Amino acid sequence: MKNLEIVDLQSFSTSAPVASSFIAYQIYFKLSVPLTLKIGKMGSRDLPAGDYVYTGSAKRNIRGRVLRHLERAKSLHWHIDYLLSGPGISISKIILSRSSECKLNKSTEGGIIVPRFGSTDCKEGCGSHLKFIDENSRTKRQRETKVRPFRKA
Ligand SMILES: [Zn+2]
Repeated sequence: MKNLEIVDLQSFSTSAPVASSFIAYQIYFKLSVPLTLKIGKMGSRDLPAGDYVYTGSAKRNIRGRVLRHLERAKSLHWHIDYLLSGPGISISKIILSRSSECKLNKSTEGGIIVPRFGSTDCKEGCGSHLKFIDENSRTKRQRETKVRPFRKA
């Protein structure tokens, strides 16, 4: 059983049944313009243009939750609602996971731009459940992959 599944956005919104064993999800999206955004009680935050990943969880009806995120017109409840309703957002990828949201979030590379975003009730010290994937960390990762010698233990 695979721990992670990359979901095709098209089929997800039409039919695809989702295994109930998935408990966490990630939404990868691109922000095409820098944004100053009011995020509920957090107040205004500056967000640079670039790639982001948000990690969330839903113990029940994960499909419904993700579909809600994909909808643009909705009431703004979670931090991510404010962001995904903003201008210049395009969602590129959804991942479903059998790991907890914090485990999933921690295993994902990226920088923290908005501390405590989506993680006000996080007990595992993630710092934020929104990560910014900048060019630097991507180039660094590629470089690391390149120089690491292939050797089986
Ligand atoms: Zn966490």
